[in-house]
Amino acid sequence: MKVVLQELTKTFPAGGRGVEAVTAVNNFNIEFPDGTLVGLLGPSGCGKSTALNLISGLLAPTSGKIFFGDEDVTALPPEKRGVGLVFQSYALYPHLTARQNIAFPLENLRGKDRLSKADIEKRVAEAAKLVQIENVLDRKPKEMSGGQQQRVAIARALVKLPKVLLLDEPLSNLDARLRLQTREELRRIQQETGITTVFVTHDQEEAMSISDSIVVMNAGVIQQHGRPQSVYDDPCNLFVAKFLGNPAINIFDGEVKNEKLFIAGEAVLDVKGAPEGKVTVGIRPEGFVISENGAMSAEFRQLEVMGRDVSVVFESSAAQGRSRAIVDASSASVSGTRICFELKREKVHLFSPETGERICFNG
Ligand code: ADP
Ligand code: MG
Repeated sequence: MKVVLQELTKTFPAGGRGVEAVTAVNNFNIEFPDGTLVGLLGPSGCGKSTALNLISGLLAPTSGKIFFGDEDVTALPPEKRGVGLVFQSYALYPHLTARQNIAFPLENLRGKDRLSKADIEKRVAEAAKLVQIENVLDRKPKEMSGGQQQRVAIARALVKLPKVLLLDEPLSNLDARLRLQTREELRRIQQETGITTVFVTHDQEEAMSISDSIVVMNAGVIQQHGRPQSVYDDPCNLFVAKFLGNPAINIFDGEVKNEKLFIAGEAVLDVKGAPEGKVTVGIRPEGFVISENGAMSAEFRQLEVMGRDVSVVFESSAAQGRSRAIVDASSASVSGTRICFELKREKVHLFSPETGERICFNG
């Protein structure tokens, strides 16, 4: 089921004690294709949960519309939308077993939707199998690990065969290893069921690793929507460039003169077609190649060995703080205090110092 948001806006009005009005979701126009996993990504407070709650129907928009397929669901309450919801807190019923928790939404179905006991058992068994918790079905939440509890919550969301699955930071309460494992499981479950899924997270790596497409938000506004790799390779502005990537993109003050990019007085790259003037330069850590005669020089600080790769820490007078280059372990022979780099053109991005918008050049 495709999900379409049309001029969707949610403004929380000003409150007492000087609380200002906030537009948490500002004029969203976007389509999530049927059967895809979309990662909704942005810093804390940017409006991710609000956007998800609008899609689920827990919140009513200030203006705009929501479609599931061709049906306008804007006025429908959550229970009529056919959505499955999973939150950061698993929100299981503590006095019920995993089996009873999963069965709960089915036992409340009435009228033509009512299911027989046998049907409920069958559905619960299928959902439990999908999330691989068949062996803990008779335990209560306090007898399960965080990861198992979250799987029960996911099974409970899936058991009603939702048209759309909405997950709000579902992995945030899990420890690092379990988070990694569970995100892969989520991807598998999404692919096996083919349910259109919106997955909210503030963790760029998490979103990039499992999503068909990501939506990067800032302060209620969609910045960019696209395949994770495209958004990483072609950020539309400085915010997106900085938000994606670990280690983060390195930022320098630069200037374009005669179609050459200058950083700290050195002509480091040909930038055909770039307009003259001051620019903010973003260079991905993997965009540096150590080279004795490289055009860009900097103060070498230290090497950080990370196994396969080496992180070269350096300082430039055109950057605030330290910068990082990721290079192959075999090429990381550095001696002395200066270090020189060649730059990989496709890893260098220029932005307007005033607006942060990307400045294109032809290379
Ligand atoms: P995120 O999930 O990205 O962290 P939220 O959607 O929870 O962000 O919040 C976005 C903005 O809307 C924040 O500034 C938050 O304070 C505000 N907000 C969220 N819910 C409410 C509410 N019920 N009343 C007033 N303001 C709210
Ligand atoms: Mg949130």
